[in-house]
Amino acid sequence: MSISLQYKSVFRHPCDPHKCYRQQFTARVQCAATTRQSRTKDQQAVAANELQLLSSSPPLVIPTVTLKKPMLDDPDLQSTWTHRAWVASGSISILVSLLKSANSVAMDPNLSLEPVVAGIVGYLLADLGSGVYHWAIDNYGDATTPVVGSQIEAFQGHHRFPWTITRREFANNLHALARVITFTVLPISLASDEPLFNAFVGMFGGCIMFSQQFHAWAHGTKSKLPPLVLALQDSGVLVSRAEHGAHHRAPYNNNYCIVSGAWNKILDENNVFEALEMILYFRLGVRPRSWSEPNSDWTEETLPMEQ
Ligand SMILES: [Zn+2]
Ligand SMILES: [Zn+2]
Repeated sequence: MSISLQYKSVFRHPCDPHKCYRQQFTARVQCAATTRQSRTKDQQAVAANELQLLSSSPPLVIPTVTLKKPMLDDPDLQSTWTHRAWVASGSISILVSLLKSANSVAMDPNLSLEPVVAGIVGYLLADLGSGVYHWAIDNYGDATTPVVGSQIEAFQGHHRFPWTITRREFANNLHALARVITFTVLPISLASDEPLFNAFVGMFGGCIMFSQQFHAWAHGTKSKLPPLVLALQDSGVLVSRAEHGAHHRAPYNNNYCIVSGAWNKILDENNVFEALEMILYFRLGVRPRSWSEPNSDWTEETLPMEQ
């Protein structure tokens, strides 16, 4: 028998951490009298460790608060002037970095190839970074986690209500990342005169900031997406709808990268995240949420009817 306590808070908007639509504690109880399959060493170790953890677990009280579903015309999905200001400052930060690099190339034509390579490396590593960050906040922490609690809750809520990302206005969707880019990329790009570094930082920061837009397009309907976006998705420059769609289906533990998706196959086929999860589990005793899936908190709720 195993009992695992799960906690998931759903749909807190990143710009207002006090708005909360749903919180739920659940306990899963699984029983098996006999099994013909022998356990692997890893499974035996996990089971033994869980028994130890259960003995020190708090009582399995299950408070459930039902919160309202997001609506199609939800004001929380609309952009405010503050959102637009952050997106403008994030975009300026990226432009400063890229323009400084381009200016260096104009002054020294011998540099033309290296900054381009540095930019491509930035684009590729941004995809990897988006996957690692997405995996971490999908699987660990909750709304009370310092600094990234609202991001964790927003991403977990996205699994329950993925359609909201297609209804969220542009600046509303990007402002949280734009704020991070403003505080990190702008000081770096103002201080640095190194063209390769500026090209790398500009592309990396730009792809990270716009990753939420690429993510929104991955949820788009083919007939409603601009032809250029479709072409970029189909050619693998941007994460495809099919690839990201797989992330939203059981077992909910793959295809985490949301820039180009170039790293998804490499990470998933080599079980990179599973290995990290095992290390964290045995070192810290923390279970990733994906080990307890599927449950109703990860399964998608359908779009409300248009009125
Ligand atoms: Zn996810
Ligand atoms: Zn998604």
